[in-house]
Amino acid sequence: MDRLRIPNIATYLPIAPSDLLLTAPIAARLLFGLSPAGRVVQAAAISVYAGSALVDWAIRADARRVDFEDAFGFDPLSPPPASEEERRQDVERLVERLNANYVPMRTPRKELAVQVDRHLTDFLAELTGQRLETSAQVRDFMLAQIVFPFALGAADPLTGDVAIFRSTGVFEPHVIAHEFCHRKGYMKEAEAQILGYLALVDSGEPVLEQSAHCERLDRQLWVLAERDAAAYNDLLDELGLRDELKDAFAVRHPAEGPVGGVVGPMMKNAYNARMKLTGQNGLSDYDEGFTNFLLATERNADS
Ligand SMILES: [Zn+2]
Repeated sequence: MDRLRIPNIATYLPIAPSDLLLTAPIAARLLFGLSPAGRVVQAAAISVYAGSALVDWAIRADARRVDFEDAFGFDPLSPPPASEEERRQDVERLVERLNANYVPMRTPRKELAVQVDRHLTDFLAELTGQRLETSAQVRDFMLAQIVFPFALGAADPLTGDVAIFRSTGVFEPHVIAHEFCHRKGYMKEAEAQILGYLALVDSGEPVLEQSAHCERLDRQLWVLAERDAAAYNDLLDELGLRDELKDAFAVRHPAEGPVGGVVGPMMKNAYNARMKLTGQNGLSDYDEGFTNFLLATERNADS
């Protein structure tokens, strides 16, 4: 089979080059003032970042992309909407399945990332006929975490650098799969949600499948709760989901604190606007668009 390796050099460095880019001018000024040495530090940070991004970009030109309409029958950005009734039925099925097949999530993050990457690469290769190999490195920190406190992880679109911000237990395999989809060139959020989910469901690994189903259930509940944390937690209480899983869901949508209550929504609005600028529908692509797409393709397969 055709094989393409994107080096993702940035991901192997001890500090995210994007962070270096932002902090180097400040650090250099503190350490060296406006001296030639300070300018050398700045220039080095820029060349590391740009060099890594350029190499990846040049090689990625030969990557084959999944044709969603051809493979699934729908565009990820405009799947037909699901009814509330369909969502409720989906929730019921997911709860039943998750309760019956619970497996504890014990794999350390590094190992998990390698596993997720392998299954994602296999899954995409089935659809495109090309093995698109990328780095399986993940960071625990990037500066984006401070700017977008509500995010679970982030990917730098230019270097493919990925950070996972918080431990999310059973959700973690899907968070990693989502960010790795960005790394493999699927920049849109709906695409990353869908391909990450399908790759995990297809993996045959109970922990990975469980994570995909948890992600789907969480997003369904969030839509049914009209994106209100209190309503979400009320729904969660009525589900009868087993405790080990319920705890992980509860921490995903905490009630807003006094600071988060102002900053959180403000940054969410900014993020929503940024998504629209890049031709996406907005934050709804993560939940409504994602679940609409899955239900539409399953409706198609049944008929
Ligand atoms: Zn994303």
